[in-house]
Amino acid sequence: MTTTNHIKPRKALEKIKPYSPGKPIWELQKELNLDKVIKLASNENPLGPSPKGVEAISSGLAELHRYPDADTVSLKEAIATKLDVTKEQVIVTNGADELITLLSEAFLDEGDEIIVPSPSFSEYDFGADLMGATVVPVAFDDGFEFNVDQIIDAITDCTKLLYICSPNNPTGTYLERNEFERLLGAVPERVLVVFDGAYSHYATARDYTDGIEFVRAGYNVLVLQTFSKVYGLAGLRVGFGVAPASIIQTILKVKEPFNVNSLAQAAATAAITDDEHVKASKESNAAGCRDLYKAFSELGLNYVETMSNFILVELGPDAEELYNALLSQGVIVRYGKIWGLPEYVRITVGTKEENDFLIEALRTVLGK
Ligand SMILES: *Cc1c(COP(=O)(O)O)cnc(C)c1O
Repeated sequence: MTTTNHIKPRKALEKIKPYSPGKPIWELQKELNLDKVIKLASNENPLGPSPKGVEAISSGLAELHRYPDADTVSLKEAIATKLDVTKEQVIVTNGADELITLLSEAFLDEGDEIIVPSPSFSEYDFGADLMGATVVPVAFDDGFEFNVDQIIDAITDCTKLLYICSPNNPTGTYLERNEFERLLGAVPERVLVVFDGAYSHYATARDYTDGIEFVRAGYNVLVLQTFSKVYGLAGLRVGFGVAPASIIQTILKVKEPFNVNSLAQAAATAAITDDEHVKASKESNAAGCRDLYKAFSELGLNYVETMSNFILVELGPDAEELYNALLSQGVIVRYGKIWGLPEYVRITVGTKEENDFLIEALRTVLGK
């Protein structure tokens, strides 16, 4: 046996680096023999899964010998009803991550370009790299604000997809409704605007848009959402897109028939009606943000005000050491180097207890 082979991968793969997820709790616990470890690194819902979703899973267990509904009809209807669109305008996928890959496969040829206000979610780059397309990053302004003029300036004859993640991961900043409308007015018809609303539920600004109104109005916009964040179903892998029916038809061509398993479909269909869980999650997040802002200020740390369930915090030149020191205190956050932000960490807002534990750990590692 040899450990090398002579089978040449596609050229496009040379660019692709493996996704680096936050360290799992069990790993850190084992490594450092810690009693308590908290993970505030993946923007999961600290209150847990939607109880309605969990209940729906148990009733689906007896039917596991059946293939899932390839057309995800019940879930599409539930989404269409919730968002006031038609079910022909909806596609359901194995997490929103899969939708980004499908979009890339459906629309990107070698040499095409995608525009990404950066830093942002790494899956957009992954999809483009996979297809041999080119990523055109557009920097944020001071305070990580979107610069619509620079985004418009980045459009070329090769542009196919333009991503707007709002609220943006990892910055927590958002694009105002009027500015998004101005952008849509300036984008040529051959460009699909992908509005990533993974964190839409958390946004409270009065001039925020979740993008759905622009799909209803007939723009070339695809809005992507997920059951992984506010609904608390990240482990099941369900996301969806809402777009003009003709765009959905194109994406369906590259979708595998049974991409979303039956338990995930059942849970998501129930979870989307679980207003109580969504409300509790938003309230808990808002309270958590207030507590964390206060603590960061007391500790003399700058942070970016968030419209989401995570906060980008500036730790300065020692950020990497402090990130590692937090790990040794049993707190997993996300270090910003992956986004070209080596002086920052991104901290997911946890429960009150988790936030307090984080604040204590920060106090310790900062020596305050
Ligand atoms: C979490 C996340 C998603 C989707 O996640 P899935 O678990 O694949 O549904 C999409 N976009 C952003 C910006 C995210 O943070």
